[in-house]
Amino acid sequence: MIDTKIAAAEAIIREQLGNAGTHCVTSSFQSECVVLVDMIRRMRPDMPVLFLETGYHFPETLTYRDQLTAEWKLNLTNLESKQSVAEQESQFGILNQTNPKECCRMRKVEPLFGGLQNYDTWFTALRRDQSPTRANLQFVEDFKLPTGKALQKVAPLADWTTRDVYEYMQKFSIPELSLYEQGYTSIGCAPCTAKPLDPNDPRSGRWAGQGKIECGIHIGADGSGVKEH
Ligand code: SF4
Repeated sequence: MIDTKIAAAEAIIREQLGNAGTHCVTSSFQSECVVLVDMIRRMRPDMPVLFLETGYHFPETLTYRDQLTAEWKLNLTNLESKQSVAEQESQFGILNQTNPKECCRMRKVEPLFGGLQNYDTWFTALRRDQSPTRANLQFVEDFKLPTGKALQKVAPLADWTTRDVYEYMQKFSIPELSLYEQGYTSIGCAPCTAKPLDPNDPRSGRWAGQGKIECGIHIGADGSGVKEH
């Protein structure tokens, strides 16, 4: 079963790589992102890998990012906010507690959309079963940036389950981010990540109690992409 899923995902990637224009992949270094980066690097070793360096990550995430980047010789780009964490907190306070939507806008959405401006195809490891907001995800979707630039957003793992991701990591002996061993099931910035509140909902530990389950990076300027709630 996993071999069939791998072949299908690779076919989507191969087809998109054959299209004209520039390509990139985003990665948070959660397991599904690592699976996707591994597939793509085998076909295109110099593919730009974009990481949102928010300044609020767990140290374990940064260590894991650096280990894989060195081992796989990834062409990594860290996308950063205009302000450092210290500058932002000095001007606005701890926004991840008072206004996480604005914090995500400043530290994730703006840097990502700025980074994507250089590309025509954006590979992402989004999966339908990650949350209800992603249930209608397509393998290939149009995505519009606030500047008006249109991209193809490609999710080769859209129909993969958590089990599929685990099996791929096992099959290729890829170590997981150590935070999974501690019980985390969806991992982002440390202040906004807890262990899941609902064992059936892996993203229920993200922004727990803040009424938010998406950071906004997957919502297009024209309302395309995943829904915020
Ligand atoms: S996930 Fe939390 S800390 Fe990270 S950018 Fe969003 S609000 Fe800020």
